[in-house]
Amino acid sequence: MPARASSADRLYLDHAAATPLRPEVAEAMAQAAADAFANPSSPHAAGRVARHALEASRERILALLGGRTADGRRDRLVFTSGATEANRLGILGTGRARGDGGWIGVSGRDHTSIQAAATELAHRGWRLETVPLAAAGTIAVDAIRAATAACPAARPRILAVTTVCGQSGIREDLAVITECATADGLIVHADATQAVAWDEVDFATTPLATLALAPHKFGGPRGIGGLVVRGGLPLLPLAPGPQELGLRGGTEAVSLAVGFAHALSLAVAERRDTAARIAGLRTRLERALLTAAQAAGVEALVVGSDSSRAPHVALVAFAGVDRQAFAMAADLEGICLATGTACASGSSEPPTIVAAMGIPPRFRQGVVRLSLGRSSTSRDVDEAVARLAALISRSSRTSGADLSSP
Ligand code: PLP
Repeated sequence: MPARASSADRLYLDHAAATPLRPEVAEAMAQAAADAFANPSSPHAAGRVARHALEASRERILALLGGRTADGRRDRLVFTSGATEANRLGILGTGRARGDGGWIGVSGRDHTSIQAAATELAHRGWRLETVPLAAAGTIAVDAIRAATAACPAARPRILAVTTVCGQSGIREDLAVITECATADGLIVHADATQAVAWDEVDFATTPLATLALAPHKFGGPRGIGGLVVRGGLPLLPLAPGPQELGLRGGTEAVSLAVGFAHALSLAVAERRDTAARIAGLRTRLERALLTAAQAAGVEALVVGSDSSRAPHVALVAFAGVDRQAFAMAADLEGICLATGTACASGSSEPPTIVAAMGIPPRFRQGVVRLSLGRSSTSRDVDEAVARLAALISRSSRTSGADLSSP
Protein backbone atom coordinates (compact mmCIF):
# COMPACT_ATOMS: atom_id res chain seq x y z
CA MET A 1 0.00 0.00 0.00
CA PRO A 2 1.08 3.59 -0.56
CA ALA A 3 4.51 4.15 0.91
CA ARG A 4 4.36 7.86 0.27
CA ALA A 5 1.29 9.67 -0.93
CA SER A 6 1.39 13.22 0.35
CA SER A 7 1.52 15.91 -2.33
CA ALA A 8 4.40 17.61 -0.50
CA ASP A 9 6.42 14.49 -1.08
CA ARG A 10 5.49 14.19 -4.73
CA LEU A 11 8.19 14.33 -7.40
CA TYR A 12 6.85 15.46 -10.74
CA LEU A 13 8.81 13.97 -13.64
CA ASP A 14 6.20 14.29 -16.37
CA HIS A 15 6.80 17.75 -17.82
CA ALA A 16 6.51 16.44 -21.38
CA ALA A 17 2.85 15.75 -20.60
CA ALA A 18 2.12 19.08 -18.90
CA THR A 19 4.04 21.80 -17.12
CA PRO A 20 2.82 23.88 -14.18
CA LEU A 21 1.33 27.25 -15.08
CA ARG A 22 3.88 29.96 -14.35
CA PRO A 23 2.63 32.46 -11.74
CA GLU A 24 3.55 35.46 -13.89
CA VAL A 25 1.54 33.94 -16.76
CA ALA A 26 -1.43 33.32 -14.46
CA GLU A 27 -1.22 36.95 -13.38
CA ALA A 28 -1.19 38.24 -16.97
CA MET A 29 -4.17 36.02 -17.77
CA ALA A 30 -6.14 37.21 -14.75
CA GLN A 31 -5.51 40.80 -15.77
CA ALA A 32 -6.61 40.08 -19.35
CA ALA A 33 -9.71 38.25 -18.14
CA ALA A 34 -10.69 41.36 -16.20
CA ASP A 35 -9.73 43.99 -18.79
CA ALA A 36 -10.43 42.19 -22.05
CA PHE A 37 -13.45 40.07 -21.11
CA ALA A 38 -15.64 41.24 -23.99
CA ASN A 39 -16.21 39.40 -27.23
CA PRO A 40 -13.41 40.47 -29.60
CA SER A 41 -15.90 40.47 -32.49
CA SER A 42 -18.07 43.12 -30.81
CA PRO A 43 -17.52 46.49 -32.48
CA HIS A 44 -18.03 48.54 -29.29
CA ALA A 45 -15.24 49.90 -27.08
CA ALA A 46 -15.08 46.88 -24.75
CA GLY A 47 -14.96 44.53 -27.73
CA ARG A 48 -12.18 46.59 -29.24
CA VAL A 49 -10.13 46.22 -26.06
CA ALA A 50 -10.51 42.42 -26.30
CA ARG A 51 -9.69 42.47 -30.02
CA HIS A 52 -6.56 44.48 -29.34
CA ALA A 53 -5.38 42.05 -26.64
CA LEU A 54 -6.05 39.09 -28.92
CA GLU A 55 -4.30 40.51 -31.97
CA ALA A 56 -1.35 41.80 -29.95
CA SER A 57 -0.89 38.26 -28.55
CA ARG A 58 -1.13 36.78 -32.03
CA GLU A 59 1.49 39.17 -33.41
CA ARG A 60 3.79 38.58 -30.46
CA ILE A 61 3.64 34.80 -30.87
CA LEU A 62 4.14 34.98 -34.63
CA ALA A 63 7.15 37.24 -34.23
CA LEU A 64 8.70 34.95 -31.57
CA LEU A 65 8.36 31.98 -33.91
CA GLY A 66 9.81 33.79 -36.90
CA GLY A 67 6.48 34.19 -38.66
CA ARG A 68 6.28 36.92 -41.24
CA THR A 69 4.18 39.71 -39.82
CA ALA A 70 4.97 42.39 -42.39
CA ASP A 71 2.42 43.25 -45.03
CA GLY A 72 2.36 41.31 -48.26
CA ARG A 73 2.37 37.52 -47.83
CA ARG A 74 1.86 37.55 -44.07
CA ASP A 75 2.03 34.26 -42.25
CA ARG A 76 -1.00 33.55 -40.10
CA LEU A 77 -1.46 32.17 -36.60
CA VAL A 78 -4.73 30.36 -35.95
CA PHE A 79 -5.55 29.84 -32.28
CA THR A 80 -6.82 26.32 -31.59
CA SER A 81 -7.76 24.32 -28.49
CA GLY A 82 -4.29 22.75 -28.28
CA ALA A 83 -1.67 21.00 -30.38
CA THR A 84 -3.99 18.13 -31.24
CA GLU A 85 -6.36 20.47 -33.04
CA ALA A 86 -3.45 22.38 -34.56
CA ASN A 87 -2.08 19.13 -36.00
CA ARG A 88 -5.52 18.25 -37.33
CA LEU A 89 -5.98 21.68 -38.91
CA GLY A 90 -2.51 21.61 -40.45
CA ILE A 91 -2.93 18.16 -41.98
CA LEU A 92 -6.64 17.87 -42.68
CA GLY A 93 -7.13 21.55 -43.48
CA THR A 94 -4.29 21.50 -46.00
CA GLY A 95 -5.31 18.12 -47.41
CA ARG A 96 -8.96 19.02 -47.84
CA ALA A 97 -8.04 22.29 -49.53
CA ARG A 98 -6.17 20.23 -52.15
CA GLY A 99 -8.91 17.75 -52.90
CA ASP A 100 -8.90 13.98 -52.73
CA GLY A 101 -6.31 11.43 -53.69
CA GLY A 102 -2.99 12.75 -52.46
CA TRP A 103 -0.15 11.24 -50.42
CA ILE A 104 0.30 11.70 -46.67
CA GLY A 105 3.45 10.53 -44.90
CA VAL A 106 3.73 10.13 -41.12
CA SER A 107 6.19 8.24 -38.90
CA GLY A 108 6.48 6.35 -35.62
CA ARG A 109 7.79 9.58 -34.02
CA ASP A 110 4.49 11.35 -34.32
CA HIS A 111 1.82 12.09 -31.75
CA THR A 112 -1.44 10.16 -32.09
CA SER A 113 -3.22 13.31 -33.29
CA ILE A 114 -1.06 13.26 -36.43
CA GLN A 115 -1.75 9.60 -37.03
CA ALA A 116 -5.49 10.24 -36.55
CA ALA A 117 -5.59 13.20 -38.95
CA ALA A 118 -3.64 11.25 -41.56
CA THR A 119 -6.02 8.32 -41.19
CA GLU A 120 -8.94 10.66 -41.89
CA LEU A 121 -7.25 11.75 -45.10
CA ALA A 122 -6.80 8.08 -45.96
CA HIS A 123 -10.58 7.66 -45.60
CA ARG A 124 -10.88 10.41 -48.21
CA GLY A 125 -8.82 8.47 -50.68
CA TRP A 126 -5.34 9.66 -49.75
CA ARG A 127 -2.52 7.18 -49.70
CA LEU A 128 -1.22 6.96 -46.12
CA GLU A 129 2.37 5.87 -45.69
CA THR A 130 4.29 5.33 -42.47
CA VAL A 131 7.80 6.43 -43.36
CA PRO A 132 10.43 4.26 -41.62
CA LEU A 133 12.82 5.63 -39.04
CA ALA A 134 16.58 5.32 -39.02
CA ALA A 135 18.20 3.69 -35.97
CA ALA A 136 18.80 7.18 -34.55
CA GLY A 137 15.03 7.68 -34.28
CA THR A 138 14.78 10.27 -37.06
CA ILE A 139 12.97 9.88 -40.38
CA ALA A 140 15.06 7.92 -42.87
CA VAL A 141 15.51 10.49 -45.62
CA ASP A 142 15.92 7.93 -48.41
CA ALA A 143 12.59 6.47 -47.35
CA ILE A 144 10.79 9.74 -48.10
CA ARG A 145 12.01 9.64 -51.68
CA ALA A 146 11.19 5.98 -52.10
CA ALA A 147 7.74 6.43 -50.60
CA THR A 148 6.74 9.52 -52.57
CA ALA A 149 8.06 8.12 -55.84
CA ALA A 150 5.01 5.86 -55.89
CA CYS A 151 2.64 8.88 -55.89
CA PRO A 152 2.38 10.98 -59.06
CA ALA A 153 3.97 14.40 -58.58
CA ALA A 154 0.78 16.02 -59.85
CA ARG A 155 -1.05 14.88 -56.70
CA PRO A 156 -0.69 16.81 -53.43
CA ARG A 157 1.81 15.26 -51.05
CA ILE A 158 2.02 16.13 -47.37
CA LEU A 159 4.74 15.03 -44.95
CA ALA A 160 4.19 15.33 -41.19
CA VAL A 161 7.36 15.92 -39.18
CA THR A 162 7.72 15.99 -35.39
CA THR A 163 10.61 18.30 -34.62
CA VAL A 164 11.12 16.87 -31.11
CA CYS A 165 9.56 13.49 -30.45
CA GLY A 166 7.30 13.57 -27.40
CA GLN A 167 8.04 9.95 -26.55
CA SER A 168 11.82 10.16 -26.60
CA GLY A 169 12.93 13.79 -26.94
CA ILE A 170 14.84 12.85 -30.11
CA ARG A 171 15.19 15.78 -32.47
CA GLU A 172 14.41 15.55 -36.16
CA ASP A 173 16.97 16.96 -38.55
CA LEU A 174 14.53 19.51 -39.84
CA ALA A 175 16.95 21.12 -42.29
CA VAL A 176 17.65 17.82 -44.03
CA ILE A 177 14.02 16.77 -44.09
CA THR A 178 12.67 20.04 -45.39
CA GLU A 179 15.42 20.27 -48.01
CA CYS A 180 14.56 16.82 -49.27
CA ALA A 181 10.84 17.52 -49.03
CA THR A 182 11.18 20.80 -50.90
CA ALA A 183 13.16 19.13 -53.67
CA ASP A 184 10.35 16.59 -53.99
CA GLY A 185 7.62 19.24 -53.83
CA LEU A 186 6.17 18.04 -50.50
CA ILE A 187 4.04 20.19 -48.24
CA VAL A 188 5.57 19.84 -44.78
CA HIS A 189 3.57 20.11 -41.55
CA ALA A 190 5.73 20.31 -38.42
CA ASP A 191 4.65 19.49 -34.88
CA ALA A 192 6.95 21.61 -32.71
CA THR A 193 4.98 21.10 -29.49
CA GLN A 194 7.86 19.51 -27.57
CA ALA A 195 10.52 21.67 -29.20
CA VAL A 196 9.56 25.24 -28.45
CA ALA A 197 10.77 25.34 -24.85
CA TRP A 198 14.21 23.99 -25.78
CA ASP A 199 15.13 24.72 -29.39
CA GLU A 200 14.95 27.79 -31.55
CA VAL A 201 11.97 27.56 -33.86
CA ASP A 202 12.29 29.87 -36.82
CA PHE A 203 9.45 29.61 -39.29
CA ALA A 204 11.14 32.19 -41.54
CA THR A 205 14.15 30.04 -42.37
CA THR A 206 12.39 26.71 -42.89
CA PRO A 207 10.17 25.96 -45.88
CA LEU A 208 7.41 24.60 -43.65
CA ALA A 209 3.79 25.01 -44.68
CA THR A 210 2.32 24.78 -41.18
CA LEU A 211 3.62 24.45 -37.61
CA ALA A 212 1.72 23.31 -34.49
CA LEU A 213 2.41 24.10 -30.83
CA ALA A 214 0.71 24.44 -27.44
CA PRO A 215 1.79 26.57 -24.44
CA HIS A 216 0.97 24.06 -21.71
CA LYS A 217 4.32 22.45 -22.55
CA PHE A 218 6.20 25.58 -21.42
CA GLY A 219 4.43 27.08 -18.43
CA GLY A 220 1.44 28.43 -20.33
CA PRO A 221 -2.25 27.66 -20.09
CA ARG A 222 -4.11 24.50 -21.09
CA GLY A 223 -6.95 24.77 -23.61
CA ILE A 224 -5.17 26.79 -26.27
CA GLY A 225 -2.69 26.00 -29.01
CA GLY A 226 -1.76 27.45 -32.33
CA LEU A 227 -1.11 26.67 -35.95
CA VAL A 228 1.29 28.89 -37.87
CA VAL A 229 0.25 28.92 -41.51
CA ARG A 230 2.50 30.05 -44.34
CA GLY A 231 1.17 33.15 -46.10
CA GLY A 232 -0.85 32.17 -49.17
CA LEU A 233 -1.21 28.48 -48.23
CA PRO A 234 -4.71 27.21 -49.06
CA LEU A 235 -6.33 25.82 -45.91
CA LEU A 236 -9.91 24.76 -45.18
CA PRO A 237 -11.32 25.20 -41.66
CA LEU A 238 -12.41 22.17 -39.67
CA ALA A 239 -14.99 24.26 -37.78
CA PRO A 240 -16.04 27.04 -40.19
CA GLY A 241 -16.98 30.44 -38.82
CA PRO A 242 -16.01 34.07 -39.23
CA GLN A 243 -13.42 34.15 -36.45
CA GLU A 244 -9.70 33.49 -36.86
CA LEU A 245 -9.59 34.73 -40.46
CA GLY A 246 -12.34 32.27 -41.31
CA LEU A 247 -10.13 29.34 -40.30
CA ARG A 248 -11.79 28.48 -36.96
CA GLY A 249 -15.23 29.46 -35.84
CA GLY A 250 -16.11 30.28 -32.23
CA THR A 251 -15.49 33.16 -29.84
CA GLU A 252 -11.80 33.45 -29.17
CA ALA A 253 -10.34 32.82 -25.68
CA VAL A 254 -8.58 36.14 -25.21
CA SER A 255 -7.05 35.56 -21.78
CA LEU A 256 -5.66 32.19 -22.88
CA ALA A 257 -4.10 33.86 -25.92
CA VAL A 258 -2.52 36.47 -23.63
CA GLY A 259 -1.15 33.65 -21.43
CA PHE A 260 0.16 31.81 -24.48
CA ALA A 261 2.06 34.89 -25.69
CA HIS A 262 3.44 35.65 -22.23
CA ALA A 263 4.60 32.07 -21.61
CA LEU A 264 6.25 31.90 -25.02
CA SER A 265 8.15 35.15 -24.58
CA LEU A 266 9.43 33.99 -21.17
CA ALA A 267 10.39 30.57 -22.55
CA VAL A 268 12.22 32.07 -25.51
CA ALA A 269 14.08 34.60 -23.34
CA GLU A 270 15.20 31.90 -20.86
CA ARG A 271 15.57 29.05 -23.35
CA ARG A 272 19.31 28.80 -23.61
CA ASP A 273 20.02 28.87 -19.87
CA THR A 274 17.14 26.59 -18.96
CA ALA A 275 18.04 24.07 -21.65
CA ALA A 276 21.66 23.91 -20.46
CA ARG A 277 20.62 23.39 -16.82
CA ILE A 278 18.01 20.75 -17.66
CA ALA A 279 20.42 18.90 -19.95
CA GLY A 280 22.78 18.58 -16.96
CA LEU A 281 19.99 17.26 -14.74
CA ARG A 282 18.88 14.79 -17.38
CA THR A 283 22.42 13.40 -17.72
CA ARG A 284 22.61 13.03 -13.95
CA LEU A 285 19.24 11.25 -13.89
CA GLU A 286 20.06 8.84 -16.69
CA ARG A 287 23.50 7.95 -15.34
CA ALA A 288 22.13 7.32 -11.87
CA LEU A 289 19.31 5.13 -13.17
CA LEU A 290 21.68 3.06 -15.29
CA THR A 291 23.98 2.66 -12.31
CA ALA A 292 21.07 1.60 -10.10
CA ALA A 293 19.95 -0.91 -12.73
CA GLN A 294 23.44 -2.33 -13.01
CA ALA A 295 23.68 -2.68 -9.24
CA ALA A 296 20.37 -4.56 -9.27
CA GLY A 297 21.46 -6.78 -12.13
CA VAL A 298 18.81 -5.36 -14.47
CA GLU A 299 19.82 -4.69 -18.05
CA ALA A 300 18.93 -1.11 -18.98
CA LEU A 301 19.43 1.41 -21.75
CA VAL A 302 18.53 4.99 -22.61
CA VAL A 303 16.59 5.16 -25.85
CA GLY A 304 18.24 7.60 -28.24
CA SER A 305 21.30 8.16 -26.05
CA ASP A 306 23.46 8.63 -29.16
CA SER A 307 20.91 10.81 -30.94
CA SER A 308 20.50 14.55 -30.77
CA ARG A 309 17.83 15.10 -28.14
CA ALA A 310 15.97 17.97 -26.55
CA PRO A 311 17.14 18.09 -22.92
CA HIS A 312 13.96 17.28 -21.04
CA VAL A 313 13.12 13.65 -21.82
CA ALA A 314 14.80 10.49 -20.49
CA LEU A 315 13.27 7.40 -22.09
CA VAL A 316 14.75 4.52 -20.14
CA ALA A 317 14.17 0.85 -20.87
CA PHE A 318 14.63 -1.90 -18.26
CA ALA A 319 14.79 -5.43 -19.67
CA GLY A 320 12.22 -7.78 -18.22
CA VAL A 321 10.35 -5.06 -16.31
CA ASP A 322 6.62 -4.42 -16.82
CA ARG A 323 6.41 -0.70 -17.43
CA GLN A 324 2.79 -0.34 -16.29
CA ALA A 325 3.52 -2.07 -12.98
CA PHE A 326 6.68 0.02 -12.63
CA ALA A 327 4.80 3.29 -13.24
CA MET A 328 2.10 2.32 -10.73
CA ALA A 329 4.68 1.38 -8.14
CA ALA A 330 6.53 4.65 -8.80
CA ASP A 331 3.27 6.52 -8.29
CA LEU A 332 2.85 4.87 -4.90
CA GLU A 333 6.35 6.09 -4.10
CA GLY A 334 5.25 9.62 -4.97
CA ILE A 335 6.92 9.78 -8.39
CA CYS A 336 4.90 10.99 -11.36
CA LEU A 337 6.40 9.48 -14.50
CA ALA A 338 4.96 8.10 -17.73
CA THR A 339 4.99 4.97 -19.82
CA GLY A 340 4.76 6.98 -23.03
CA THR A 341 2.85 10.06 -24.13
CA ALA A 342 -0.02 10.94 -21.79
CA CYS A 343 -2.65 10.31 -24.47
CA ALA A 344 -1.31 6.76 -24.91
CA SER A 345 -1.07 5.99 -21.20
CA GLY A 346 -2.74 2.73 -20.32
CA SER A 347 -1.95 1.40 -23.79
CA SER A 348 -0.70 -2.15 -23.77
CA GLU A 349 1.73 -1.20 -26.52
CA PRO A 350 5.08 0.46 -25.75
CA PRO A 351 5.80 3.86 -27.35
CA THR A 352 5.77 3.46 -31.14
CA ILE A 353 9.25 4.90 -31.53
CA VAL A 354 10.78 2.04 -29.55
CA ALA A 355 9.85 -0.59 -32.12
CA ALA A 356 10.42 1.83 -35.01
CA MET A 357 14.02 2.32 -33.84
CA GLY A 358 14.60 -1.40 -33.57
CA ILE A 359 15.16 -1.47 -29.79
CA PRO A 360 15.52 -5.19 -28.88
CA PRO A 361 12.19 -6.77 -27.84
CA ARG A 362 13.34 -7.66 -24.29
CA PHE A 363 13.51 -3.93 -23.47
CA ARG A 364 10.26 -2.83 -25.07
CA GLN A 365 7.80 -3.66 -22.29
CA GLY A 366 10.07 -1.99 -19.76
CA VAL A 367 10.18 1.52 -21.22
CA VAL A 368 9.41 4.45 -18.94
CA ARG A 369 9.55 8.17 -19.73
CA LEU A 370 10.83 10.64 -17.15
CA SER A 371 10.65 14.24 -18.25
CA LEU A 372 12.02 17.39 -16.67
CA GLY A 373 10.98 21.00 -16.93
CA ARG A 374 11.97 24.49 -15.94
CA SER A 375 10.89 23.92 -12.34
CA SER A 376 12.87 20.67 -11.94
CA THR A 377 15.72 20.68 -9.43
CA SER A 378 18.70 18.49 -8.61
CA ARG A 379 16.90 17.50 -5.42
CA ASP A 380 13.99 16.17 -7.54
CA VAL A 381 16.42 14.10 -9.55
CA ASP A 382 18.41 12.73 -6.62
CA GLU A 383 15.34 11.91 -4.56
CA ALA A 384 13.63 10.27 -7.56
CA VAL A 385 16.70 8.15 -8.23
CA ALA A 386 16.86 7.05 -4.59
CA ARG A 387 13.22 5.92 -4.67
CA LEU A 388 13.43 4.37 -8.14
CA ALA A 389 16.63 2.47 -7.29
CA ALA A 390 14.68 0.56 -4.66
CA LEU A 391 11.97 -0.19 -7.22
CA ILE A 392 14.46 -1.38 -9.82
CA SER A 393 16.06 -3.60 -7.25
CA ARG A 394 12.64 -5.03 -6.34
CA SER A 395 11.82 -5.56 -10.00
CA SER A 396 14.89 -7.76 -10.37
CA ARG A 397 13.47 -10.01 -7.66
CA THR A 398 9.89 -10.20 -8.96
CA SER A 399 8.23 -10.99 -12.26
CA GLY A 400 7.48 -7.29 -12.50
CA ALA A 401 3.80 -7.89 -11.88
CA ASP A 402 3.85 -6.62 -8.29
CA LEU A 403 6.41 -4.03 -7.37
CA SER A 404 4.59 -2.49 -4.44
CA SER A 405 6.56 -2.09 -1.24
CA PRO A 406 7.30 -5.36 0.56
N1 PLP B 1 2.18 16.82 -30.25
C1 PLP B 1 3.11 16.47 -29.36
C2 PLP B 1 4.52 16.21 -29.84
C3 PLP B 1 2.78 16.34 -28.00
O1 PLP B 1 3.72 16.01 -27.13
C4 PLP B 1 1.45 16.59 -27.60
C5 PLP B 1 1.04 16.44 -26.18
O2 PLP B 1 1.52 15.63 -25.45
C6 PLP B 1 0.51 16.94 -28.58
C7 PLP B 1 0.91 17.05 -29.89
C8 PLP B 1 -0.93 17.20 -28.20
O3 PLP B 1 -1.03 18.40 -27.50
P1 PLP B 1 -2.39 18.88 -26.82
O4 PLP B 1 -2.51 18.09 -25.57
O5 PLP B 1 -2.18 20.34 -26.59
O6 PLP B 1 -3.49 18.63 -27.75
